[in-house]
Amino acid sequence: MMILYGTSGLFLLLFQLIVWLPAPITSLNATSLIQAANNGDGKEARRIEKEDRASLQALERVTHRIRPGDTLGALLEPFALSGEEKLLWVRSIRQHFSPKRLRPGREIYFYLSANEDAGTNGNGHKSLQGLSLELDDDWILAWELGEREINFRKYERPYEAEILTASGTITDSLYQSGERAGLHPEILSQLVDIFGWDVNFQSDLRAGDSFRVLYERKHRAEGKKKEFFRVLAAELGTGNERHFAFYFEKEDGEGDYYNLQGKSLARAFLRYPVQFNRISSTFSHRRYHPILKVRRPHLGVDFVAARGTPVRAVGDGRVTYAGWKSGGYGRFIEIQHGATYKSRYAHLNGYAPSVGRGARVKKGQVIGYVGCSGRCTGSHLHFEMYKNHRYVNPLKFQLPREDRIEPPLLEVFETAKQLVMTQLVSTTGSKALQPSKADHWR
Ligand SMILES: [Zn+2]
Repeated sequence: MMILYGTSGLFLLLFQLIVWLPAPITSLNATSLIQAANNGDGKEARRIEKEDRASLQALERVTHRIRPGDTLGALLEPFALSGEEKLLWVRSIRQHFSPKRLRPGREIYFYLSANEDAGTNGNGHKSLQGLSLELDDDWILAWELGEREINFRKYERPYEAEILTASGTITDSLYQSGERAGLHPEILSQLVDIFGWDVNFQSDLRAGDSFRVLYERKHRAEGKKKEFFRVLAAELGTGNERHFAFYFEKEDGEGDYYNLQGKSLARAFLRYPVQFNRISSTFSHRRYHPILKVRRPHLGVDFVAARGTPVRAVGDGRVTYAGWKSGGYGRFIEIQHGATYKSRYAHLNGYAPSVGRGARVKKGQVIGYVGCSGRCTGSHLHFEMYKNHRYVNPLKFQLPREDRIEPPLLEVFETAKQLVMTQLVSTTGSKALQPSKADHWR
């Protein structure tokens, strides 16, 4: 138990956010949470960023917007460096960054010692302690003067983050009702993936069913085009049943969705090989048939989606076929999952790089793209599942739950859950709980 707690700093952050939810949340906490709850990779980058903040934040910062023709030497000119110092800076920078990549319009930040008597140059100038620049929309490079040398760091640009809620009643399709409640299609897709094994979206939704969602949205201040969403908690009421999902990280960055009892909602497979928001509106907008078209008696399910729509491997496995297949399948992928299951994807437009015969794939990994190769009248994915060589209906077959919250963690889960529940059940309409701006230190 100690190990679980000890190694779960990020998980505890999530827990803290949940504890703080009813009260105003400071931007730093929300930011930390978002960064914590963020993709598991980049952990190193986040750690480094924190250290970096601590060391450079106290310094005076000078911003320079790069102009055409700027050179490293010219940029360092104003700081009255000795020839030796300048050489050291230029060398350290060149080691990790080609000055040819100085892009006009991007910003470079210089950090100067703040106290008056600093500056070994003896002429009253504040001395250069560090500099950072934007490599691209995602990454920042930083150099900092150390005891003996100049240290280099690379880290992700900070996000702005907010926690939002939305609720609504289904009057037509989940897609349309969700959109009216202001939910981004990405959130709807996540809901379909989260509840896909407990709710049959093909047949279970009725007018009058309801949903409530608590979610996070994050984006980079300067690059509005990149947005990331994550459902933190959700309730779906279908008929007399109410389904709940809570996002919970047992360990650093390893989050999953759990029901009221702390049982995982996830299974070994995704229910749908195509993201809900990518499925053709003709079907996603159709009353009570929000997802797809099932033609019988043909064995398989057709997901109508635009050419080029990503196709996801429904589970971990090994590619046993990737190529043209006769019999009308066209470009075709077959994946063997363990000894028992097999999934097949047909009419593809193309294959994802590195997805060839023998390749290992992970659940959710993009393996190819929707198309209309083979015998096909309109762009769609033809999808089949087999269990012990017998066809099973991909929309109806069941699998055991993957996971549950272990007893030592249950108490923490319960507390977190109760607080989120309070927030969730009081949700009416759509609103921002705590619009927050990341504290930009640069
Ligand atoms: Zn088909």
